Amino acid sequence: MICDNLSIDENGHLLFAGQDASALLRQYGSPLYLMDEDRIRRNCQTYYAAMKDAFGESALPLYASKAVSFLEIYRIIKEEGLGVDVVSSGEIYTAAQAGFPLEKAYFHSNNKTDADIAFALEQGVGYFVVDNEEELFAIDRIAGAQNKTQKVLLRLTPGIDPHTYEAINTGRVDSKFGSAIETGQAEEITSLALKLPHIDLAGFHCHVGSQVFDSDTFLRSAEIMLDFSAAIRDRYGYTVRELDLGGGYGVRYTEKDPVIDIAANIHGVAKAVKAKCAALKLPLPAMRLEPGRSIVADAGLTLYTVGTIKKIPGYKNYVSVDGGMTDNPRFALYNASYTVLAAEKMNEEKNFLCSVVGRCCESGDILQEQVLLPASIRRGDVLAVLTTGAYNYSMASNYNRIPRLPIVMLKGGQNRLVVRRESFEDLVRNDL
Ligand SMILES: *Cc1c(COP(=O)(O)O)cnc(C)c1O
Repeated sequence: MICDNLSIDENGHLLFAGQDASALLRQYGSPLYLMDEDRIRRNCQTYYAAMKDAFGESALPLYASKAVSFLEIYRIIKEEGLGVDVVSSGEIYTAAQAGFPLEKAYFHSNNKTDADIAFALEQGVGYFVVDNEEELFAIDRIAGAQNKTQKVLLRLTPGIDPHTYEAINTGRVDSKFGSAIETGQAEEITSLALKLPHIDLAGFHCHVGSQVFDSDTFLRSAEIMLDFSAAIRDRYGYTVRELDLGGGYGVRYTEKDPVIDIAANIHGVAKAVKAKCAALKLPLPAMRLEPGRSIVADAGLTLYTVGTIKKIPGYKNYVSVDGGMTDNPRFALYNASYTVLAAEKMNEEKNFLCSVVGRCCESGDILQEQVLLPASIRRGDVLAVLTTGAYNYSMASNYNRIPRLPIVMLKGGQNRLVVRRESFEDLVRNDL
């Protein structure tokens, strides 16, 4: 199995975090997201321990909460001692409602509105990760009006293409995000940050992409960022205090995806960062990483009930489920791969090739193509889509007025609802 929180019982049923997945579907209704709390915590602890160990006490992983954002997740992250990344006033509000200490929050986004900036300042968000000069002026102005000085990191683009999907590449010079080192804009925004009275420049940030498996990407971006930091020190006398290398460690969606040893990887990055700092005579900055997917993806799974099965002789077969792009738009967006299993037929031979599709009025409403399921698959069977903890619930929509799914959290043999299923009343709540 692609993750060790999955197993099969003596009846051929899929177990997730040790619990019978299809029994949970019968208990809570269909379709349904499950999340494995022990796995979330273990993923947090892996990053936390490895970063403290490799970079020292000042280091801290930040959970990129756009991966999945709801009250209970911020409570868990708080207990595990991580910071968080937030990308909107809505995420800041959710974190605040959960009692998350916002001084450990880092506010991203390439287009923070004046209202976002004012709200984040009022809420006491610790850091703004500043994308561009216009934003820096706006923060300086609004912080000034609130009699505050705001700590910021500057988001820079080191010019790296991590060879992942085009749609999720963000570290290249022509990216929508950040200021490029290569074009001189990174230096310009740094010198501006050092001049503005209500801005406290804490350091630099970069994020080169997502679903990264090679350790090389982080090593190269760290070295480029440190070279830049040394050049800034030489020219402006400013010493970087924090260096944030972003998120992006990959997870296993299918058996083809490699297994990545995150702790070993972080130690490798630390070794290179320390050597580079020594060579440049820079003190080691407080290091930050921003894992999102690799904290929650393999802690999540989606369960559906099979409906129509359509066989088009000589062409293809379709297995339709009672969800789709409204709860998981990632195949529709960028052909994301997923593993699909028949949750009560785990020991049957898989020889029925099909596309697993949703129920939306959209041909692109596909969860996965080229899926092999048991030939006995029929209406009423339960399908599990694995590794859906990240970028599923957080990307969900109400297209076709389909209510959003609930989330059931599993922990040590127990289970509890942490997000309710949307009701029809919820669907019309804002309609006048
Ligand atoms: C999306 C994002 C992350 C998290 O990426 P993952 O692939 O989920 O680890 C971290 N930092 C920034 C700036 C991001 O945009």
